[in-house]
Amino acid sequence: MRDLANVALDTAQQKGASYADIRFVTDRSRNVSVKNGKVESLSNNESQGFGVRVIVNGAWGFSSSSLVTRAEIERVTAEAVQIARASASVFRQPVQLGDPISIQDRYVTPADIDVFSVSLDDQIKILLEADLEMRRVEGIRIANGMISTLKTSKIFASTEGSYIEQELSESGAGIEVYAVNEDGVQKRSYPNAFGGGWETGGFEYVHKLDLPGHARRISEEAIQLLTAPVCPTGVTNLILSSNQVALQVHESCGHPVELDRVMGMEASFAGTSFLTTEKKGNFRYGSDLVNVYADATVPRGLGTFGYDDEGVPAQRTPLILNGIFQDYITDRETAATLGQQSNGTSRADGWNRIPMIRMTNINLEPGNAGSLEDIIAATDEGIFMDTNKSWSIDDKRLNFQFGLEAAWEIKNGKRGQLYRNPAYTGMTPVFWGSCDLIGSRDHWTVWGVPNCGKGEPMQGMHVGHGAAPARFHNIKIFGA
Ligand SMILES: [Zn+2]
Repeated sequence: MRDLANVALDTAQQKGASYADIRFVTDRSRNVSVKNGKVESLSNNESQGFGVRVIVNGAWGFSSSSLVTRAEIERVTAEAVQIARASASVFRQPVQLGDPISIQDRYVTPADIDVFSVSLDDQIKILLEADLEMRRVEGIRIANGMISTLKTSKIFASTEGSYIEQELSESGAGIEVYAVNEDGVQKRSYPNAFGGGWETGGFEYVHKLDLPGHARRISEEAIQLLTAPVCPTGVTNLILSSNQVALQVHESCGHPVELDRVMGMEASFAGTSFLTTEKKGNFRYGSDLVNVYADATVPRGLGTFGYDDEGVPAQRTPLILNGIFQDYITDRETAATLGQQSNGTSRADGWNRIPMIRMTNINLEPGNAGSLEDIIAATDEGIFMDTNKSWSIDDKRLNFQFGLEAAWEIKNGKRGQLYRNPAYTGMTPVFWGSCDLIGSRDHWTVWGVPNCGKGEPMQGMHVGHGAAPARFHNIKIFGA
């Protein structure tokens, strides 16, 4: 592959490029899902190709192809140069990349059980066992389960001398049930409701999730929700499950810190940010307890890798320290505009897309409040809400509203009445400013989000969020 990479790099330079890189990418995935006792879908996908990115006269050009041959690489590279030349003719600031980066390395996701070593039969067996448990509870209308496994092989080479090979593997799995009565539909899911639980690593993660072991509980809770009262309206202490804290971080911390959004270069998918550059280093984002890092090195995170798609090493960058906003997530070009070096968050959704700033693992660091049960025990009056059902947030990432699957009244440190259709609303810095308890490291999970969307054309991305259960005071709650 080194020879083929050099074809692109040499061709680009001969045609006048001041910088070029090529990425060869092979994605392989297997997905199986079961619905109401039957296999609903089975798919095996493979996608292979390369993308060439060049800078000519200070402007980017990009082109790609699924045909990995010497002649095609020459043709595609020439096309990328042509595109760059055309966009350079429209006056704009020339692209700066900061200091050159030259790295030769190989990174392989650590895994105990190779994700493709487990037969489809064995995967279906896990899902059918969970399905049987879910439907043992009377009144369940729909029971769904899914397992996905994925491997990505990437080679990155650049005119600055980098040559980096990566073999990444991931798995995901989840179950959900629906129950229906005259008051509406109730849903419960495990381990979360954003496309199942996901991690980098091997199939051991699916075993650890133990889908059958949680199947009966979610069914029983869905049935109880059908006749539970609607969540009351008020202002109270709100305790969130760690999977909801993860989504709250995603929407109200992860997206606003994307520097291309801040600079107005990327406005798709509710796309600017309130977090303008004069706020860097002084803006109070949350209470003293709130520490957020972008960490592409955390073991098993879905946004964990060796190098990003510009060949920048995976890093752990403080974004918020003791509540004060510190830094953005950047790529080489946006970092250079602030006189910084990239913190390694540029990724592309496959070989035929240009990389852009994407969350890695955006983690709310653990606190010292123990477990969820400890936080409940420390709360005289409030409400505990579990697992996301719906969300909305404005285009600056400031005002938001989340609906959840279930909630329980908290009185004198104990769980009481179950409520259906709970929701809460808030404003990003006020909400994080009201955070007064965060669970400890033993109760901290790096949740994977396999479907973060950004860009035009849309690029889906696999990102992660470390989160523990947490408590927030004076939060507006209501029944949706
Ligand atoms: Zn997203």
